[in-house]
Amino acid sequence: MKTIIKILFLILINVDSIGQNIDIQAKIKYHTEKAQNYLDKEKSLSGFYSIDADGIKMYASPKDKLSNKTEFVIRWGQIENFNNLLEFNSATSMLAKYNEGQLKGFPDGIYIATKKITPEKKLTGYKIALDPGHIANDPETGDLEKKYLKIKGDNINGIKDSIEIAEGMLTYATAKLLKSKLENEGATVFLTRSGDKCSFGKTFAQWKKDDLKNAVDSLFKIGELKASQKQYFLSKKVNDRDIFRVIFKDLELAKRAEIINNFHPDLTVVIHFNVDETNLKWEKTSDKDFDMTFVAGAFMKNDLSTKEKRFEFLRLLISDNLEKSISLSASVIKSFESELNVPTANIRDAKYLTEGCIMAANGVYCRNLQLPRYIHSPIVYGETLYQDNINECKSLNAESDKTKNKRIQQIAEAYFKGILEYTTTLSSK
Ligand SMILES: [Zn+2]
Repeated sequence: MKTIIKILFLILINVDSIGQNIDIQAKIKYHTEKAQNYLDKEKSLSGFYSIDADGIKMYASPKDKLSNKTEFVIRWGQIENFNNLLEFNSATSMLAKYNEGQLKGFPDGIYIATKKITPEKKLTGYKIALDPGHIANDPETGDLEKKYLKIKGDNINGIKDSIEIAEGMLTYATAKLLKSKLENEGATVFLTRSGDKCSFGKTFAQWKKDDLKNAVDSLFKIGELKASQKQYFLSKKVNDRDIFRVIFKDLELAKRAEIINNFHPDLTVVIHFNVDETNLKWEKTSDKDFDMTFVAGAFMKNDLSTKEKRFEFLRLLISDNLEKSISLSASVIKSFESELNVPTANIRDAKYLTEGCIMAANGVYCRNLQLPRYIHSPIVYGETLYQDNINECKSLNAESDKTKNKRIQQIAEAYFKGILEYTTTLSSK
């Protein structure tokens, strides 16, 4: 009898380990295909990672991979822990864990309980971050950040008076309208900027006064600025457009990612309006008009040059942020299509799509933009319509308070419906 039990026991263990092997084989296959199909645009990054029976390993360089010198190792049994940690920890503390070379203090199979959502309204319990693209609250600032178009009136294109549009004013009005729709359904909503204040909580002019010197000093210290540049940016000769382009822009984007991550959203919506990229200067109108959305991924051959970037690559590979972003974006683009009457862009409709993106779903493109790369939540980065399109610029020109503009109201509604569709699908799973 004892022998039979023993044999049975051995068979059970064997079946179990066969089951585990199949499970691990499936995980290897899933993550290898995910890296190749969504994250590695030029098929040039395999020297930075490996995916095998042990788990996922990251390397600082292809040379390190050859000599088996890992930068970070995560075992298959730790993936769930890692994802739970991501949800509750700051980006800085996650990067610190990456720096330790492995996930310490978290043995396989133990994880933190996730939060429970009790649905009173459709979005009760949801935390949603909205990021209205750019900073302009007036045409002058739009011109400073070069997210501005001015089209002169003429009879040929049927525009009576000239048209002036600053993208930052459109994105902010959209975010404000969307915020109140989401809040009405019970969501807690966070906006990265407000009125004329950027994500640093102040105007560009005030930031320049308070923070430019420190920013220049620290960029010089880490080798991002040369001595001659430092001198220029601290001199009286410096102009605002250079300060904006070289110093302010990326720091302000990094701030957006930081405050969004500190909010720990369930999803993030980045709001932009597009233009025809071949219609440079945007002084005349274009016939083209498209919608598209971006998610993270499509890293290029030089895109894993820092530890921080390699960490984000790993995060995208092992968390389900990317899968959720694709599904959120697919819902949003479907809603754009039905609400806005604008065609969805095909990969051949713009040069940056063909050259820098991987198509993940209809109208959803992986692209290695700063915000999708650094924001630790499912994200949709929306680019609705072409502002320089002849009909769109006429509609967008109406109303000085853009929250009263009909086209902007339609766009906020389109985002709202797309988000609702996504969360409904999620909760029915
Ligand atoms: Zn934009």
